[in-house]
Amino acid sequence: MRRKSYSPKPKPPINRSPEEREQVMRRLVVGAVGNRDKRLSGYREQSLKLYPWICARCGRAFDQTNIIELTVHHKDHNHENNPADGSNWENLCIYCHDNEHSRQVEFQLNEGNMSEKDEQELAKYNPFANLKELLGQK
Ligand SMILES: [Zn+2]
Ligand SMILES: [Zn+2]
Repeated sequence: MRRKSYSPKPKPPINRSPEEREQVMRRLVVGAVGNRDKRLSGYREQSLKLYPWICARCGRAFDQTNIIELTVHHKDHNHENNPADGSNWENLCIYCHDNEHSRQVEFQLNEGNMSEKDEQELAKYNPFANLKELLGQK
């Protein structure tokens, strides 16, 4: 179906309601938090200098054209813990990184708070570890 004519919506007047103004304020606050994250994100550059541009999970290699998709994961999930030797960092592609965190969220939802031992187990967890088993059982 083809529209014969369309009229652009008239621009709304700049008269902002209190609700709208509150929304704008909220966006500004979120922006400020974003800037804070940016300041803290110096660790990303450091980690990219320390470690090869390769996802530690799936092994995908990155270069200047797609490095934006390579992120730095904090092994202990504490973004404030940034030792200079990089021992708390892991370069993960955005997909594996997402996976890493959703796994933890699931874990917490199922089991409640994690004990230290559970966290160690989780750190050792390899998503492909029982894949062979599963395939073998078939
Ligand atoms: Zn990956
Ligand atoms: Zn992470």
